[in-house]
Amino acid sequence: QCPWGAPNTTSISCSLADVMSEQLAKELQLEEENAAFPEVVAVAEGPFITGENIDTSSDLMLAQMLQMEFDREYDAQLRREEKKINGDSKVSISFENYRKVHPYDSDSSEDEVDWQDTRHDPYRADKPTTTPRKGFVGKGKDITTKHDEVVCGRKNTARMENFAPEFQVGDGIGMDLKLSNQVFNALKQHAYSEERRSARLHEKKEHSTAEKAVDPKTRLLLYKMVNAGMLETITGCISTGKESVVFHAYGGKSATEDKVIPPECAIKVFKTTLNEFKNRDKYIKDDYRFKDRFSKLNPRKIIRMWAEKEMHNLTRMQNAGIPCPQVVILKKHVLVMSFIGQDQVPAPKLKDVTLSSEDMKKAYYQILNMMQQLYKECNLVHADLSEYNMLWHDGKVWLIDVSQSVEPTHPHGLEFLFRDCRNVSQFFQKGGVAEALNERELFNAVSGLNITADNEVDFQAEIEALEKMNEDHVQNHGKKLSMFSNDGDPPIYDE
Ligand code: ADP
Ligand code: MN
Repeated sequence: QCPWGAPNTTSISCSLADVMSEQLAKELQLEEENAAFPEVVAVAEGPFITGENIDTSSDLMLAQMLQMEFDREYDAQLRREEKKINGDSKVSISFENYRKVHPYDSDSSEDEVDWQDTRHDPYRADKPTTTPRKGFVGKGKDITTKHDEVVCGRKNTARMENFAPEFQVGDGIGMDLKLSNQVFNALKQHAYSEERRSARLHEKKEHSTAEKAVDPKTRLLLYKMVNAGMLETITGCISTGKESVVFHAYGGKSATEDKVIPPECAIKVFKTTLNEFKNRDKYIKDDYRFKDRFSKLNPRKIIRMWAEKEMHNLTRMQNAGIPCPQVVILKKHVLVMSFIGQDQVPAPKLKDVTLSSEDMKKAYYQILNMMQQLYKECNLVHADLSEYNMLWHDGKVWLIDVSQSVEPTHPHGLEFLFRDCRNVSQFFQKGGVAEALNERELFNAVSGLNITADNEVDFQAEIEALEKMNEDHVQNHGKKLSMFSNDGDPPIYDE
């Protein structure tokens, strides 16, 4: 017979009806569950900050704020310890790497000087020696000890002081704590891996401050705007550039009667990663409006200044009647303005839109007009004018992205203007507008200067000579020459 024995014939009998009813029961339960817990809409799809579920969103905000407050207190304690250890000593150590709130994110202004000093101090001492790099492999000398258990336990407790300062061990003052070797070693192991983990975290924090989304600080700022009712919903991201991230939002209610928040807003978040801004120094460094402030500032402040600049420049343009976003509010490095576009769809850039030859011609004359207004009435040069920063909306061209705009008397102002003119005239000449002036003619038409050089090289040389003359005048007389400003009128300040 079969060597494996007789097959088990008493198979678990199960009628078709049973199977069916089991399936039915399952289905019923599923239905019930679905009714009780309707599926949560995918977060990525929907608006990522809304004012609708105020309760939960403010809980989150509360939690974030609390955490930040905790972190700040912790850092304050760390700073006190640092001070105590360093005393008057000429050689000092820094706990900076153990801080929770990264200096770039830190909000309190009193520590700004502080971290700058420690960050750039070439004589900064090494990290305090904490846990030894090795020496606790398995059961080393520390463990298989023949010493008295009590003495050893106390020693272990005392040794905990050597863990990284961020490792919470409690103070245990006045208590006769004795840690067994086993516990101590486990703790030590844990402290070490924590230390490494936190080092990694700090590193990450430093580099990722706004890859695609925004850092926690900015997020909190945005939450606050929604919670205050100023914005109704932040729906999503319109653009992530090198220097900024732009979001779309639906406007809410204004706190004050006299100010109306547009139904749709664009939120421009200037990136707090600093690398990109280094090469923009030349715009702001020589801008006398910001001259006094520049030298004393840390990089984070400078980024806020970009946002501030954009706001002031937009306001000037608004006052001159140039189509551009209207400023709603500026908070730190976050600028809220009116949205150019409709129903969450931003107006296309001039480079992305195909215009009829009639519209193209219209756009050209409009831009020529706007450039003159910008120069004469706003006392500004856009300095990044091209088909990338002009939007086509409502049958006309809108200017955006003016954080880098400078006054014409900026040491490189005329060069920037010439570059703008080149972009504009090339775009329209290629676009088939026969009337489009060439870049040199356009430059003269906008600036009112009369540079006669008939080739690019000479033209540029004359521009630079003018700039230099102006700078020399500033050196000698402390004020700008009015030779190429608006008919001797004082520049318009709205600050
Ligand atoms: P960047 O310095 O990153 O170029 P921009 O100010 O040019 O910043 O904004 C980037 C993009 O975001 C723009 O090209 C435009 O498509 C969109 N954008 C910016 N501001 C607005 C606005 N007010 N309304 C609609 N879209 C905007
Ligand atoms: Mn741009």
